[in-house]
Amino acid sequence: MKILVLNSGSSSIKYSLFDMLDLRVLASGMVEKIGEIQSLHKYCIRHIDGNIQEMVESQSIADHQYGLKNIIQQMQQSKVLAHATDLSAVGHRVVHGGEKFHQPTLIDENVLSEIRKMIPLAPLHNPANLTGIELMMQFADNVPQVAVFDTAYHQSIPEHAYLYAIPIELYEQDSIRRYGFHGTSHYYVAKQAAKTLDKPLETLNLITLHLGNGGSVTAIKQGESIDTSMGMTPLEGLIMGTRSGDIDPAIPYYLNQNKAMSNEDINNMLNKNSGLKGICGENDMRAIHAMADAGDKSAERALDMYCYRIKKYIGAYFAVLGRVDALVFTGGIGENDSRVRAKICDGLELFGISIDPNKNEIRDGEIKDIKGSQSTLSILVIPTDEEMEIAMQSMSFVKTEKDS
Ligand code: ADP
Repeated sequence: MKILVLNSGSSSIKYSLFDMLDLRVLASGMVEKIGEIQSLHKYCIRHIDGNIQEMVESQSIADHQYGLKNIIQQMQQSKVLAHATDLSAVGHRVVHGGEKFHQPTLIDENVLSEIRKMIPLAPLHNPANLTGIELMMQFADNVPQVAVFDTAYHQSIPEHAYLYAIPIELYEQDSIRRYGFHGTSHYYVAKQAAKTLDKPLETLNLITLHLGNGGSVTAIKQGESIDTSMGMTPLEGLIMGTRSGDIDPAIPYYLNQNKAMSNEDINNMLNKNSGLKGICGENDMRAIHAMADAGDKSAERALDMYCYRIKKYIGAYFAVLGRVDALVFTGGIGENDSRVRAKICDGLELFGISIDPNKNEIRDGEIKDIKGSQSTLSILVIPTDEEMEIAMQSMSFVKTEKDS
């Protein structure tokens, strides 16, 4: 049983092909810089004889359709997938599912139309997700296409936490509320944390920190999301690579009135030119460390602000949860950046948080507990695997479809 997972961005398609019988990744890769002169197709194929082939091909990939063709051709040539129609399902990451979607959903015309309706809420992501879905429906038209929503896991957040204190009609008529994102990742690492701690997820209170280019924190009570830092869109909350996170909501008005910035200018600035990039000119955490190590004050300031914002959320979620069994770090920064982890945890001893500096430095891609001897809770570093989670959710859905 083979399941392809697609995560289509505005100029990229990330993919993984799984053999669900033994949960092996048969092929994975990414087509990047779609529409630019030099696009890249990076991929890794696991051949039947066990050999692993890693390749980077540089060519012009004009659009998503050509990119997807390229991906399928590559998998056919390497024989991991004879035909697109040999797939048991295709799982699609869809960023915004609004209030409609609480679980993985088989895609049909109605579902496509609902995802389209959500475009105003996720203008950067949902159109790209739709492009991937529509193309894959052409390539493999009899194969079930399943949408797995980033917002679904957060549908358990209670009303008092998801409503904004603005006129209630804006929620009732326009669905303006907190939705939360990265749900697939928060849920996946929460399940892994439960396995690691050898306790049922339903008994655990966790604070999960997904720190990548985007970033969010989730408060998990007895296995369910009860609050999260991203809001109606993925712009709210933490300081991110290029996104501002929380700001005074009066700032856009001020910019419009005093700096002659249009709504579009402001939206672009907050999403693409703010966050770490806005503060120090760089959005990649590795580059920011290099700058700070070389004495760059703006990079130091960016690091201070980044970690301070996360600390504030940890404190808030302790108050919300009462008891916390584990703090979980994941995402490119959460998994790899021991300095950021140490800086976030520094000063949180009152909450029972302290890390073991030696354990914190180990980087082996495995799940580990980096808590120090004084720590009253586990501090877990867990590699996320959104693609695997999407594949598993797609598979269970396909089974249900067949059974019913
Ligand atoms: P995305 O949100 O796009 O999936 P990732 O989860 O891959 O992003 O995270 C990207 C971030 O992780 C970048 O800021 C990158 O610098 C950072 N990162 C990756 N590896 C390391 C590392 N070894 N040390 C510090 N930061 C890292």
